[in-house]
Amino acid sequence: MSSLDGKVALVTGGSRGIGAAIVRRLARDGATVAFTYVSSPDKAQALVQEIEAAGGKARAYQADAADTAALQAAVDRVAAESGRLDILVNNAGIFLGGAFEDTTLEDFERTMAVNVRAVFVASQAAVRHMGDGGRIVSIGSCLADRVPSAGMTLYSMSKSALSAFTRGLARDLGPRGITVNVVQPGSTDTDMNPADGAHAEEQRGRMAIKRYGDASNIAGMVAWLASEEGRFANGAAFTIDGGANA
Ligand code: NDP
Repeated sequence: MSSLDGKVALVTGGSRGIGAAIVRRLARDGATVAFTYVSSPDKAQALVQEIEAAGGKARAYQADAADTAALQAAVDRVAAESGRLDILVNNAGIFLGGAFEDTTLEDFERTMAVNVRAVFVASQAAVRHMGDGGRIVSIGSCLADRVPSAGMTLYSMSKSALSAFTRGLARDLGPRGITVNVVQPGSTDTDMNPADGAHAEEQRGRMAIKRYGDASNIAGMVAWLASEEGRFANGAAFTIDGGANA
């Protein structure tokens, strides 16, 4: 028996990158995994087929994390169609970098809507369906704790909100046996931050081990937090960044 047999998980932004790796890993560990996406229906369907071909269970839902009604509806639909909801992974996120003076209010609103408001909205919708043993894991960033260069103020600000959200919600949900944690990746090879991108060398220079992370490294931590073995981890931030913040 795998550690997540019988559990139902929802991963926001699961069509690519870290989210897709989390979907794969939770499905491999036995969970039925639903995930949202916004603009990659082909990648989402391909991932569902890949997981089903491997004997797992997955389903994709189109829902923009910035659209509160759509996100709430997706959470409720997953719980209704699967009969339960045990694990929520708030993964969907965007990075709008650039000079502070050039950052627009639209950039601010969009970043806060996807990186912060959606985490609040999805978590609130999910806990209505969760029971004892429930898990909420958000994907933050090591930039929430340290900002090593210019141009990342808005993104870092948005990710730092997840730290206090995690601590507060762990207190709120502790009496119900639900844990809440945040995983803070460092430079991880995805479309958002390719290991051969323009700023990759600079990022590698900051790491103690000068190698980008693989999305599966982040997924492994999420799977552990979601498992029974991870039940005592609560209200905490787990930084996985190759030692960049060390
Ligand atoms: P990618 O850009 O590679 O993938 C983003 C995923 O999120 C896609 O599946 C995308 O869906 C989905 N998504 C984006 N916006 C929305 C939205 N509005 N609603 C629903 N889904 C959405 O990003 P990563 O995999 O690199 O990042 C995943 C998380 O990890 C983010 O929260 C990011 O901030 C964080 N992170 C990443 C790091 C890195 O180095 N890669 C470092 C630290 C943190 P679609 O395919 O439909 O566009």
